Amino acid sequence: MIHSAHASEDDIPASSGASKEAIAVYQNAGRAFELIERHSTPPDPQAYALWYAYAAGEDERIVERIDTLLANQSALTPFDIETLHQELLLPDAGQAATQTIGGAIEKEIESVLGIIEQSVSSNVSFQASLNDVETKLPIAAAGGGLASLVSRLVSDNRRMIDATKELSQGLSESQKQLATLHKELEEVRNQCMRDPLTAIANRRAFDDRLQEEIDHAIASGGKLCLAMADIDLFKQVNDSFGHQTGDSVLKMFAHCIKGNIKGNDMVARIGGEEFGIILPQTDVVSAYNLLVAIKSELKNAEVPVEGDPTRIARITASFGVARLDAGMTMRELIEQADKYLYEAKKAGRDKVKAQGL
Ligand code: GH3
Ligand code: MG
Ligand code: MG
Repeated sequence: MIHSAHASEDDIPASSGASKEAIAVYQNAGRAFELIERHSTPPDPQAYALWYAYAAGEDERIVERIDTLLANQSALTPFDIETLHQELLLPDAGQAATQTIGGAIEKEIESVLGIIEQSVSSNVSFQASLNDVETKLPIAAAGGGLASLVSRLVSDNRRMIDATKELSQGLSESQKQLATLHKELEEVRNQCMRDPLTAIANRRAFDDRLQEEIDHAIASGGKLCLAMADIDLFKQVNDSFGHQTGDSVLKMFAHCIKGNIKGNDMVARIGGEEFGIILPQTDVVSAYNLLVAIKSELKNAEVPVEGDPTRIARITASFGVARLDAGMTMRELIEQADKYLYEAKKAGRDKVKAQGL
């Protein structure tokens, strides 16, 4: 090991009242500066952190790697410092780098945020340790023999504090920008799960949630019902009142269903004028009653016709309800609900048809 002799605790007067930790910080900081000077390393925060870790000797990998490098070359290059810092002092950075290769952009941003947070906090503690050294040095100097070290440490200390402050400010700024990006990404993700016309969940969100609820019902032995709803003769609505009024009808229908469900229930627009309603912890009778209530409310709803305030559009809808039975897959549950919806249409529309009723 190319370690230089440790500064002894005797260098600090017993009367200084410095704690053991403070003494160790002081000694290692002094040695870190000594090593920076001896190996002509640029005095930046990364180099300081590395030499400080080397001087502290707590991480054998750091000591070994630096010793190996110094056995073959006279000084550490900026590239060596960067590499060692990344690999050994910021272990998460390597992990983050591999994640970014195949990972989603969201993961990458989260990792970068983590790294920046870590860098900012390590820089803050670096500043604190330097400040600590500066406080303790006059006391140590009183013990004699340290005068030149004192002046070098103080000036290096100031330079490093300035450099670190700048770095911290830059990192905090990047952190803020990334946090904003992250929020925007989250919003985009939410939009991907929403139907833009009605602002309720879309097919993708419906599939995800239905699978989740099925898994949960199987694991907990709970009940689960699925309803499919389809607006009756919607093509005629468009033909009679125009596409824009058709859109208003879709919004009204979504709003009507949403206003009648609660808790963990979910409504999603899964096709043109077709909606899925997931009803966890609900038996078929309760689901049936809920849909009959929605059906009645819908029948009384009036939608003003776009561009002609004298006319009003009215609609009805048909509903099919299925319950999750043991061993059923998501596909089978949807097919079952569709089957009852088809029966409701066949029976003349404006009906609720449910399994076993
Ligand atoms: P049924 O009672 O058998 O369900 O008859 P229907 O007319 O409702 O069914 P059909 O499948 O024949 O027509 C569905 C119509 O829904 C046709 C399509 O133009 C309309 N549609 C689908 N998406 C939208 C939309 O986003 N806005 C509007 N205005 N119409 C839509
Ligand atoms: Mg229809
Ligand atoms: Mg349809």
